[in-house]
Amino acid sequence: MFTRCTKCHTLQEITALQLRNSQGMLRCKKKKCSTLFNALELLSESKKQDTAIPQSLPWNQSTQRNGNIPWRTASILALCTLIAQALYFEASALPQNPSFRPWLEIACQRLTCRLPAYNNLQELTIVRSKLTPQSEQSLVFNTVISNQGTFAQTYPKIKLSLLDYAGQAFSQRVFEAREYLSDPTAAAVLIRPDAATEINLTLATTQTKIGGYTAELIN
Ligand SMILES: [Zn+2]
Repeated sequence: MFTRCTKCHTLQEITALQLRNSQGMLRCKKKKCSTLFNALELLSESKKQDTAIPQSLPWNQSTQRNGNIPWRTASILALCTLIAQALYFEASALPQNPSFRPWLEIACQRLTCRLPAYNNLQELTIVRSKLTPQSEQSLVFNTVISNQGTFAQTYPKIKLSLLDYAGQAFSQRVFEAREYLSDPTAAAVLIRPDAATEINLTLATTQTKIGGYTAELIN
């Protein structure tokens, strides 16, 4: 593109990049003049001055602006949404992350806030369990679960399945903490790290002969 000094009309070649970098202002290359002038005023695509009326550029600029700004706004919005989603996800996952948990607990003690209870089934184990007949009508399920993690966590549910002699489960039941703990109010309390809890459940006998059972901890 070409432009002319607004004072001495010396022709100067200029690129779109230069125009953008200088924000349209150009210093006249004629040393005696050296005027700082608005290059957009007499901008043209040819060297002829009569076509120098800057009609094409403002139009180009405005389409550029109309095209670019909504796009930019849209991409900024998309980025914000992404960040917000990441923060939301992290906010719910962080208290469950063993590396972050200790820091969050310290922070929460200072701020007197409550962290959601730590929950990681992988760290809870059934240390031992047995199912024994107690009378004609009842069975006793006895088990010990322990927390092998570093944080206190909520009591899990225990899923007990009875198997027939073919090894097929014919009956099952999920016990919640308030059902299996001898003191139901303890369900609100957490299993401390390295602590074990013994559980005794009295169950009704079944018509099918029991060949075995499985017990698992679930959320
Ligand atoms: Zn000049």
